[in-house]
Amino acid sequence: MLYIHHAILFTPDQRIEEGAVLADGDRLIAVGSAEQLPRPAEAQVVDAAGLILAPGFIDLQLNGAFGADFTATPAAIWDIAARLPRYGVSSFLPTIVTSPLDTVTVAQATLRQSPPGFYGATPLGLHLEGPFLNPQKRGAHNPKHFRLPDVSAIADWSLANNVRLATLAPELPGALEMIRTLRERGVVVSAGHSMATIEQAQAGLSAGITYGTHVFNAMSPLEHRAPGLVGALLTDPQVTVGMIPDGVHLHPAVVKLIWQSKGAAGLNVVTDAMAALGMPPGQYDLGDFTVTVDETSARLNDGRLAGSILSLDQAVRNLIAFTGCSVSDALTTVTATPAKVLGLTDRGQIAPGFIADLVLLTPDLRVLKTFVGGKISHEFH
Ligand code: ZN
Repeated sequence: MLYIHHAILFTPDQRIEEGAVLADGDRLIAVGSAEQLPRPAEAQVVDAAGLILAPGFIDLQLNGAFGADFTATPAAIWDIAARLPRYGVSSFLPTIVTSPLDTVTVAQATLRQSPPGFYGATPLGLHLEGPFLNPQKRGAHNPKHFRLPDVSAIADWSLANNVRLATLAPELPGALEMIRTLRERGVVVSAGHSMATIEQAQAGLSAGITYGTHVFNAMSPLEHRAPGLVGALLTDPQVTVGMIPDGVHLHPAVVKLIWQSKGAAGLNVVTDAMAALGMPPGQYDLGDFTVTVDETSARLNDGRLAGSILSLDQAVRNLIAFTGCSVSDALTTVTATPAKVLGLTDRGQIAPGFIADLVLLTPDLRVLKTFVGGKISHEFH
C-alpha cells in the first residue's frame, strides 16, 4: 500500500489543503483529508507537506523524446515511455506522423506487449496524425505519403488494435465515411492539418469528430467572414481542442483567447514534442525529415515548425503564465480533460477506484515524484 499525506490535493470537485490518498496495488482506494484518513501501519508513507499532489499527466500528442522519433523508430516507444515520468507524464499517446501505412502496423505491433520488467508511463494507444491530411497544410509531414481517405486502407485501425486517436482533414473526399467508421471502432477522431471551411468542419463534427489537433496550427485560420476550422472548433462546446503553449507555436495572447473560449474542460494542453525533448540543440528525426533544433524550437530547413521541444510540466507552467488561470484549471487541461477526450473512466482524477497515477509537485509546479500505478517511477534528486 502507498499512503501520501499532508499534500494539497486536487480532487474532481475540491481542493483539499491537508489531503491524503491511499493506494492498494495500482488503484486508489481512499481519498480525503489527512485527519479523516489515518495511515495504515503497513503502508509505504510519503510526507508531502507543502506540496501539490495532482493526477498523473496525460499527453495526447508526443512524437518522440530523448533522441528517438516514434515514426522513424516505433520500437523506441517503450524506452521513451520509461523516461517520461520525469515530466509528470504517467500515460500518453505515441504519435505517428504521416508515413507509409506499414509504419503504423509496426507501431501497433510494438504496443501489443510491454517488454519484460517494463516500468514507466503507460502508452494508451497510438495517435495517428495522417496520412489523410490536406497537402496545403502539410506542416512538417512528408506530402509523398499523403492519401485520400479510403476505409479499405485502414481495415486494422481500431481501438482493439491500439489506435486511440486519428487526425484527419474533414474536407477531403471520403473523410466523413472514414470518421463514422473509426468512431464505430472506438477510435477518437480529430480534425487537423486541414483547410476546411466552417461548413466542411461542421459536417466533420456531425460525423463524429470530437477533437481538434493543435488548434490554429496547420489549419484554415479564423477570419471574420470565413471562420474556418478554428471557428468551428472554438464555438462548438462538444469539441475539445489540443493546444501547444510553448510560446512559439502560438502567441501568448492567442493561448489566452483559446483559454477564454474553451475553459479547462474544453482545452487540452499537449506538447507535440519531438525527438529533441530532453536533449541538447542539434539535428533530430521527425518522420522522414531531419529537423534542426535550437534552444526554443524545432524547424525544417525552410523554417517551418516541426513539433516542439516542450515538456508537459513546462506547458502547464506556461499556460498559467500566459493566461493567469488557476493551478487547478491548468492541471485539469493535462489530466481530467484528456481522459475525457479518450473516454477513460479510471484515469485523470484523484478519486477512489481510479488508477494511482499521481504527480507530486512543488508549489511552483516542478515535478518531484511521479507514481504510475501506485509505484514511484521518477524521483527528483
Ligand atoms: Zn501536426
